[in-house]
Amino acid sequence: MSHTPHTSSRSTDLSRLRSAVRGRVWLPGDARFDDVRLPWNRAVAQPTRAVVEAADAADVARLVHFARDAGLAIATQPNGHGASGRTEDTILLRTGRLNAVEVDAASRRARIGAGVSSGALQQATAEHGLTALPGSSPVVSVAGVALGGGLSWFGRAHGWVSDSVRGFDVVDALGNQRRVTAASDPDLFWALRGGGGDYAIVTGLELDLHGAPALFGGRVLWPGELTRDVLDAFRAVTAAAPQELTLWLELLHFPGSDPVVAIDLTYLGSASQAVTHLAELERLPAPLSDTRRSMSVAELGSITAEPTDPGAGVTRGELLAHLGAEAVDDVLTSSIAPMLSVQVRHLGGAFAQPSDTPQGPLSAEFAVYMFGSPAFAPAADIAARQQLMAHSLPITGRKPVTFLNPAEQLSDALPAASIARLRAIKSDCDPAGLFRGNFPA
Ligand SMILES: Cc1cc2nc3c(=O)[nH]c(=O)nc-3n(C[C@H](O)[C@H](O)[C@H](O)COP(=O)(O)OP(=O)(O)OC[C@H]3O[C@@H](n4cnc5c(N)ncnc54)[C@H](O)[C@@H]3O)c2cc1C
Repeated sequence: MSHTPHTSSRSTDLSRLRSAVRGRVWLPGDARFDDVRLPWNRAVAQPTRAVVEAADAADVARLVHFARDAGLAIATQPNGHGASGRTEDTILLRTGRLNAVEVDAASRRARIGAGVSSGALQQATAEHGLTALPGSSPVVSVAGVALGGGLSWFGRAHGWVSDSVRGFDVVDALGNQRRVTAASDPDLFWALRGGGGDYAIVTGLELDLHGAPALFGGRVLWPGELTRDVLDAFRAVTAAAPQELTLWLELLHFPGSDPVVAIDLTYLGSASQAVTHLAELERLPAPLSDTRRSMSVAELGSITAEPTDPGAGVTRGELLAHLGAEAVDDVLTSSIAPMLSVQVRHLGGAFAQPSDTPQGPLSAEFAVYMFGSPAFAPAADIAARQQLMAHSLPITGRKPVTFLNPAEQLSDALPAASIARLRAIKSDCDPAGLFRGNFPA
C-alpha cells in the first residue's frame, strides 16, 4: 500500500475543533497556546497547528475523525521528554486526563490510562507489595516509556518495560476504539511494544506487575578524584550482581561545583541481603554522602532526583558492548565538561532473554546517557563532546528508543529487520500517515 504523508494542504477551519471534541482545545492566538504546545524538553522547537487535551478515549476517537476530515496528522505527546520536533502540520494530543489507575493485586495486573505517570502507578502498586517497571523519573508517562521498549530499574530482573504489557486500548486510524493483544492483532501488538507511537493512539494499557515485598536503594557519592576507584568497584559489583541488583554509575559536574562520582543502586529485596553483594563499595574511601535505605517502590524517583519540571537538555544515548577496556577508564575518568552528567546503566540479566518486541533481546551489557544543558554551554559544544565520548566507548551501534535525541532516527535504535516489519505494519494500519510518532517508522 502506498504511504502518503498526511499534511494540511486543504485549508482547514480549526475553530471547528472546539465543538468536535469535549476536551480542551488551544489554537494559535489563544492566550496559553504558546505555553501548552511546548514539550518538556525546552531545547526542542515544536511547531503545531492546535493542541487538544482529550477528555477520554471516546474523545480521542472524535479527534481522529476530525483530523481525517481536516487532512491533519496527530502527534500524541504526554509530556515531551522524548520530543523530536517532528510535529509540523499536526494536532498535538495531550493525554493527561486519561489518568485512571486500577490495580488487581490478586492477578498481579494493572489497567491504566495512557496519561498515567510512572510515579502515579508506583504509588498505586506500592500498597500491594507489587511494582511496575519504573525508570529513573517519576514524571514520564508509562505509555511513552512502554511504546519505546523502556529501560527500568528492574529490567535486569523482568526485561523491557514493554515485555510486561499484556494489552493496549487504542483508537486506530479509522477512528475505531479497539483492544489490541497478542492474540487479537499480533503485528500491531508487537509494533506497539517498542516501535514508538506511529501506528495507533493508545488510550490505555494492561500490564503485568511484579512482586516487590522489600526494596533497598539510594545513592553513594564520592569526590571526582576517586572516579577510577569507583569505576573499578562498579565493574566488580556488576560482574557478580544477581538480577535483583542494579547499579548505575553517575559522573556529575554541575557549574560552580567540583566534579563528583556516584553509584545509584536498587536491590529488589532486603537491606541485609543487599549488603552481601556490595562489599566492594564498602572498601572504597568514606563517601561524601550515602542515601541508601529500605524504601517504598513509590520512592524510586528520589534516588537520582532528576528535575521534574521542564527544562532544556542536549542528550545522547548509546548501548555499550562492555566496560572492559583500559581506554574506557581514560574516557570515564576525564572531565565530562561541558556536559553536566554521564550515566552508565548496567543491563544484562533479563534484558538478554528472548523478547518478542521490536528491540528484541540485548547483548549489550551497559547503556550510557549523556546530558548537557544549553543554559550552561552552547548546544553544539555539548553535542560535539558527546560525539567524542561516544566514539571513544565500545558502542554497539544501537540505542534504546527512549534515549533517542531529535537528530536521530528509529533506525539508529532498532535492528534492520524490525524497521522493515514496522514499516510494513505502518503501511497497513495507517497508510495515510495520520499518526506521527516522535520517531516515525
Ligand atoms: C529525566 C528523564 C528520565 C528518563 N528516564 C528514563 C528511564 O529510566 N528509562 C527509559 O526508558 N527512558 C527514560 N527517559 C526517556 C523517556 O522514557 C522518554 O522520553 C519517553 O518518551 C517518555 O517520556 P514522555 O512521557 O514525556 O513521553 P513523550 O515524550 O511525550 O512521548 C514520546 C512518544 O511516545 C509516543 N506516545 C506517547 N504516548 C502515546 C499514546 N498514548 N499513544 C500513541 N503514542 C504515544 C509518541 O510517539 C510520543 O512522541 C527519561 C527521560 C528524562 C527526560
